[in-house]
Amino acid sequence: MQYQIEFKIRVDKNLKEELIKKLKLKDKDLISYKVLRESIDARDKSNVLYNYLLEINVTRKINYKGIKELKKIEKLKLKSWHYADRPVIVGLGPAGLFAGLCLARMNARPIIIERGEEVNKRQAKVKEFWENKILDLNSNVVFGEGGAGTFSDGKLQTNLNSPYIRFILEEFVKHGANSDILTSNYPHIGTDVLAKVIPNIRQEIIALGGEIYFNCQFLDYIDEKDELIIKTNLKDFKTKHLILAIGHSAKDTFKMLYQKGIAMEPKNFAVGVRIEHDQEKLNMAQYGDFYKYLPPANYKLAVHLEDRSVFTFCMCPGGYVVPSQNETNSIVTNGMSNNKREGKNANSALLVEVKVSDFYKGNPLDGFDFITDIERKAYNISKDYRAPSNLVREFLDNRVATETRSVKTTYFHDINFCDLGLVLPSFVVKSLREALPLLEHKLKGIAFEDNILIGVETRSSCPLQIKRQNYKSSNPLIYPVGEGSGFAGGITSSALDGIKCVISMMEGNNEN
Ligand SMILES: Cc1cc2nc3c(=O)[nH]c(=O)nc-3n(C[C@H](O)[C@H](O)[C@H](O)COP(=O)(O)OP(=O)(O)OC[C@H]3O[C@@H](n4cnc5c(N)ncnc54)[C@H](O)[C@@H]3O)c2cc1C
Repeated sequence: MQYQIEFKIRVDKNLKEELIKKLKLKDKDLISYKVLRESIDARDKSNVLYNYLLEINVTRKINYKGIKELKKIEKLKLKSWHYADRPVIVGLGPAGLFAGLCLARMNARPIIIERGEEVNKRQAKVKEFWENKILDLNSNVVFGEGGAGTFSDGKLQTNLNSPYIRFILEEFVKHGANSDILTSNYPHIGTDVLAKVIPNIRQEIIALGGEIYFNCQFLDYIDEKDELIIKTNLKDFKTKHLILAIGHSAKDTFKMLYQKGIAMEPKNFAVGVRIEHDQEKLNMAQYGDFYKYLPPANYKLAVHLEDRSVFTFCMCPGGYVVPSQNETNSIVTNGMSNNKREGKNANSALLVEVKVSDFYKGNPLDGFDFITDIERKAYNISKDYRAPSNLVREFLDNRVATETRSVKTTYFHDINFCDLGLVLPSFVVKSLREALPLLEHKLKGIAFEDNILIGVETRSSCPLQIKRQNYKSSNPLIYPVGEGSGFAGGITSSALDGIKCVISMMEGNNEN
């Protein structure tokens, strides 16, 4: 007999033994069990629990209060592409990759153009920047195969609820990711594994008749009313379906689209710093003595000040703080981890909400100027790619640290202690100062005096939204998706946006 049950055990206990004991079974009665969902409940540090949803097969009927109704998982069903043209996708980040995979399986033979290089060549370019400070403007941490997510922690959780999220996770597993992402409440892949998985998805797209052009930059388009001519540095392409999956760092492409009349509007976003601290201290703060049985801990924190929010974002357990710029003479920080999250430090973005009224002067691209100004100021402090930084204690006391203490930075380009007020807008500095002690109340150790604040974190979300209806922009042949549309953010949500756009194309665009 098969059941789905909710089951809790202390994290140091053995699941099989506890199942047999609590379900009052004999060894031979338990034929098999499978974890469908796993989360950690650490509210009581003296009794840290795994919360499971399990599928069990047993030889006899059981009487147990945690039995759940057997649920079927809704599968993504893709129709066949019934249009005469081949769709063109700009950008091979999560949104373009998953839109491309779906279209390839629908026999649409998508054409994908990507300004950066394939993963292995891109890795070499990123290494060159991190080690020798030689930046490639088209192959870097944000541009190239896999998009901004390739050099990341590969966190896959999202607040969204959609049956297609299961499809995304299953595809990652089918193409090489560990199957624990199907069950974890906080699934993550890691940059080392992502770098293998993404090319495998690309191979499937090509095997199904798709074409992928690397080092191919979308520069312009000619609108011939019922068809677009896509101009790139390599060649022209014609299509009636252009999926724009450009992420939020391609300022030049946004500028071109705006000049062509694509309707956009500014939106709120956030800027701040990366905070770097000791992972083991965090594990103890989150899990007490049980931390040795558990993977590296994470957190997600927010405080609401009088006029704006301060929150942590993109937390990377056991990770590294990485230079993530795609422009010379600028500083941008972000975080990444390997699958095992084995690094000594944890890091997270510590961000202050930026409202449209803080930057908008009448042009929807104004948010980019606001961001660029901060990134350039951050560079100009030292002019050698060291990141402007301070320690928490000195930052709170309005002083500048002279050297690191117990926490040593992982930042590849080294850090430069300075007054962060010279780089970040005063409302950001003020909000961070107010928020840190409040955050400490929520998580002991987050505002520990030796923790390092590394600037500047400016690319957490897009500062504009491309207006769209049923996934169509103000030009009905152009479909903006993913982070660059301003309607998605993060790996899974951007991938989901790409998939939903393809589904919408098939349902609402039958005039061809
Ligand atoms: C270091 C780092 C760590 C991150 N960690 C996480 C994480 O752990 N979890 C998470 O959910 N999110 C993370 N993110 C955010 C996540 O990567 C993005 O939200 C996601 O990649 C957005 O997907 P996308 O497909 O919309 O755009 P992108 O991934 O940005 O991809 C856009 C692609 O379009 C290409 N492109 C742009 N303009 C052109 C043009 N004109 N012609 C041709 N190609 C073009 C770019 O080269 C790029 O490859 C991280 C980001 C960074 C930078």
